[in-house]
Amino acid sequence: MTVTARPHDSHVSQDKVAKFGGTSVATAAQLLKVKAIIDADPKRRFIVPSAPGKADAKDTKVTDLLYLAHQLAAKGQPIAPVWDKITERFLSIVRDLKLTLDLKPVLDQAKATIEGGATADYAASRGEAIHGLIVAALLNAEYVDAAEVITFDRAGRLDPATFAAIKKRCAGPGRYCIPGFYGRGADGQVKTFSRGGSDVTGSVVANAVDAAIYENWTDVSGVLMTDPRIVAEAKPIAEITYGELRELSYMGASVLHEEAVFPVRGKAIPINIRNTNRPDDAGTMIVDRRDPGSQVVVGIAGTKGFTVFGIEKALMNGEVGFLRRVLDAFEHHGIAVEHVPTGIDTMSVVVADKQLGTRADALVEDIRAAVQPDSVSVTPGMALIATVGQGMSNATGTAGRLFASLARARVNVRMIDQGSSEQNIIVGVEESDLAGAIRAIYNEFA
Ligand code: ASP
Repeated sequence: MTVTARPHDSHVSQDKVAKFGGTSVATAAQLLKVKAIIDADPKRRFIVPSAPGKADAKDTKVTDLLYLAHQLAAKGQPIAPVWDKITERFLSIVRDLKLTLDLKPVLDQAKATIEGGATADYAASRGEAIHGLIVAALLNAEYVDAAEVITFDRAGRLDPATFAAIKKRCAGPGRYCIPGFYGRGADGQVKTFSRGGSDVTGSVVANAVDAAIYENWTDVSGVLMTDPRIVAEAKPIAEITYGELRELSYMGASVLHEEAVFPVRGKAIPINIRNTNRPDDAGTMIVDRRDPGSQVVVGIAGTKGFTVFGIEKALMNGEVGFLRRVLDAFEHHGIAVEHVPTGIDTMSVVVADKQLGTRADALVEDIRAAVQPDSVSVTPGMALIATVGQGMSNATGTAGRLFASLARARVNVRMIDQGSSEQNIIVGVEESDLAGAIRAIYNEFA
């Protein structure tokens, strides 16, 4: 495994940030696994817990219960039925762990604040805030209220002062527990990140303390090469770059919160996705740069729901402003464009159906009026598949293998876009071919 030299090596500590997702901390039994993981490595000094997630498929996340409590309070209805569930969830964990921690006053205060008209963000943040008290007690860590150190500016963006504040507050030699998901807004009120935002907190803390690594503990042994609903035996990815992960996530693979990469990326701090239930698995390492070695393709992701507009006009390449006039038509309708592959005398415009709605006919008219094309075609029902791997467009033969595998599976490729990042090739296929195409590509490269 290659973990590249980091630009800020002089600041780098040996410390690790360990963030635990909702299912990792859903029950007392799970929390004992967390304790074993933390105790196994003294460098795991910064712990970022989520609120308790689903203990099983029928269960409800504490965060969802808290949003519900807020909704009831906002309608002036009693929150007691929901609040009792939340209380029982926390108190049973404390009981099962045999901790001497009296959460009653904290729970009562949160209830009264929500009943008194607190914001939805405040209500939701209590999942992490209260759970953090349990985790801190269990791990003998110092509790740091995230609202004390993580702040947002007026526009709702993370205030850069956050990093210094965390560093200063957590400067001692011991363990610290910083609950995920929330901080404090410019108005002084509690403010959360978007859903799943504890991932972002972990990343922010990792940046602040110049962590050697950001461990993100979840319930799978890393990012899989492709969707296991399509390829049941999909292998985990050992190593992937931030950029490659971004490409896969854009195409529908969901692992980390979208924004979680940014705070660590500038310092090239690796993110290690690990499985709380299988702590010996190495998981996936998300790094700044990797040596592609034999693994040219790291992952394959696909999504349905696209329409392709095909525009043909002889000598279009000589016409100044042709592309712009076509794209203006889309802009005029307020439609974001996903891809624009071009050829000689042809261009395609790929848009997501949820953007397009029922405006395809109107767009065709507008394109005709704008550029007088020889023809305009509309192909709905397309799926896009991204085959992702750094440097793959350079690696001789990769594209050949990709298209040969699709041909063998009798998949008709309707569109190809290689982008300029040199780290993916996107193909458009009919939606009914999506699963077959992904399987074919996986079998070729896995
Ligand atoms: N508990 C929050 C949520 O459910 C944040 C998180 O788990 O990351 O969205």
